[in-house]
Amino acid sequence: MAPSGSGGVRRRCRRVLYWIPVVFISLLLGWSYYAYAIQLCIVSMENIGEQVVCLMAYHLLFAMFVWSYWKTIFTLPMNPSKEQDTEMWSFTVGPVWFMAIRYCDRCQLIKPDRCHHCSVCDKCILKMDHHCPWVNNCVGFSNYKFFLLFLAYSLLYCLFIAATDLQYFIRFWTNGLPDTQAKFHIMFLFFAAAMFSVSLSSLFGYHCWLVSKNKSTLEAFRNPVFRHGTDKNGFSLGFSKNMRQVFGDEKKYWLLPIFSSQGDGCSFPTCLVNQDPEQPSTPAGLNSTVKNPENHQFPAKPLRESQSHLLKDSQTWTESSANPGKGKAGMSNPALTMENET
Ligand SMILES: [Zn+2]
Ligand SMILES: [Zn+2]
Repeated sequence: MAPSGSGGVRRRCRRVLYWIPVVFISLLLGWSYYAYAIQLCIVSMENIGEQVVCLMAYHLLFAMFVWSYWKTIFTLPMNPSKEQDTEMWSFTVGPVWFMAIRYCDRCQLIKPDRCHHCSVCDKCILKMDHHCPWVNNCVGFSNYKFFLLFLAYSLLYCLFIAATDLQYFIRFWTNGLPDTQAKFHIMFLFFAAAMFSVSLSSLFGYHCWLVSKNKSTLEAFRNPVFRHGTDKNGFSLGFSKNMRQVFGDEKKYWLLPIFSSQGDGCSFPTCLVNQDPEQPSTPAGLNSTVKNPENHQFPAKPLRESQSHLLKDSQTWTESSANPGKGKAGMSNPALTMENET
């Protein structure tokens, strides 16, 4: 019992330590509020109009920043469900057209497409992007939009502070500010805002590129594997559709940290159907193939929709599993490779 007891204490200590970056960011944010709203706007600004405009714009950005940061931290990452896994298992191991599967030894489940095991969370995460220490959470299907908004609003927040603080920062060096403690807040505020603007803009720019290509950070480092091999742009549907995968169809939700991403996190459309003229190009075409299993040819390339579209109809699958000749048209997903990640 002793090793497991000490292991438990170590795990708990680690869990507490993981919150340090979040506490650091929160303290920095709290100080920046005091330095900007109180010391700069209220104490140092002489023009009332400038004061009001700066305070209103600042509070709007502050609220959006805190809201999206909060949602990124506290939105639980989605994990593959055991129930769904059982269904998948029943049709992935039997038929010969599945040459291999992606299986997680730690979680004891089959990983859906784009799902990866996070060694920090010790869980499989749907459409895992990366584990972010600054939010002490995994960034994946459930909170990727929130993470992007967090980057965008924190960048705007820093740029806004740097831009409005600049003239006071210059006055600091030209001895144009009264000799109070406000001048030091004004100086450090500009340094911090400028420094974070640089690092955030590169990170935000990188994630904008990932969204435009419909890639996760992990997929940018390691191309996803499909039936016909690896394809770095296998999930890319074009710029507009790629954006909608993350932000959804309704534009009114795009700028708000409210979940609006498309899909269920388990199945993803691919662009690869265009390479195979033998395959139906729409879900309707897919259904018609299911009805005529005798005519079916195993897909050489993935269809537009991945297999979970068939899984949604559990009845169809039950019938198919009773007759090995049926339902093969649904095996359209990016090819599965045996992959044990830790
Ligand atoms: Zn796992
Ligand atoms: Zn994680």
